[in-house]
Amino acid sequence: MEMTARTREPSPTPADRAERILDPPQTAAERRAVRHKLEEPAPTTKVSVRNLNFYYGNNQALFDNNIDIPALRVTAVIGPSGCGKSTHIRVYNRIYELYRDHRATGEVWVDGRDILSPNTNLLELRKRVGMIFQRPTPFPMTIFENIAYGIRLHYRASRSEVSDRVAHALKLSALWDEVAEKLDEPATALSGGQQQRLCIARAIAVEPELILMDEPCSAIDPVATAKIEELIEVLKDDYTVVLVTHNMQQAARVSDFTAFFYKGYIVEFGPTVEIFQNPKEKRTQDYITGRFG
Ligand code: ADP
Repeated sequence: MEMTARTREPSPTPADRAERILDPPQTAAERRAVRHKLEEPAPTTKVSVRNLNFYYGNNQALFDNNIDIPALRVTAVIGPSGCGKSTHIRVYNRIYELYRDHRATGEVWVDGRDILSPNTNLLELRKRVGMIFQRPTPFPMTIFENIAYGIRLHYRASRSEVSDRVAHALKLSALWDEVAEKLDEPATALSGGQQQRLCIARAIAVEPELILMDEPCSAIDPVATAKIEELIEVLKDDYTVVLVTHNMQQAARVSDFTAFFYKGYIVEFGPTVEIFQNPKEKRTQDYITGRFG
């Protein structure tokens, strides 16, 4: 059966799991199901960041960032405006190198390879690490070509394989039902929310290992936002997602882990349920409870 965002059961969040522990189930079957969930293996690490510093010319924006991003989970990056959230995730695919005086030092290991090494093949890196920006960025092409473009760039695929991959990516992004009849129309004619899902389809069509999302919902309406959040929940079955958001409710709803950034430092990182309900650091607590931001 085709699995789409609409047909899949959402995976349990750490909050669900915590709730089940506090409210024990009654039947043997329920008890077994909960035991099974509690015995889920701890996630492996997808990205290990070690002593990452970042500079815009002479201005340092990140200070000694260290973090292990869990594989096949959603990690939210939160913190007040200007604290370095975007700067941090933009290192993971070295997109900052489009600007001459932007510079990173330290190590960023993605699946055992330090992507800051000068030997890194940037084309391959950007296939492995896809990115979704605040504003949807469809290419000025048809809906079909927006997705086919990357597939042709990275794979030697026949025409029918390209079509299959385009359809698969659109189905996985829960956009297929809305665009199947108009694949030859310009992508720019879609609504903002649809364009953002198209950008997600474009990213996953080349089968990245990691998807970076930089405030993907800040330019779209609440209904479109709910669809993207539902989609993120589905994506983590197959992909590791790092989501920058200034929306604390969104971080609490969709992420498994949360990193709190402040003035270029990672102040606290852990399971979302702990960061939101029982933060260790006072600054995290103050931010979560809206004392600054
Ligand atoms: P956030 O995503 O948390 O809002 P950013 O990563 O965008 O924060 O910014 C972190 C710091 O780096 C801020 O002080 C910001 O002014 C600075 N910064 C961001 N982009 C640039 C740039 N292109 N040139 C110079 N400084 C920048």
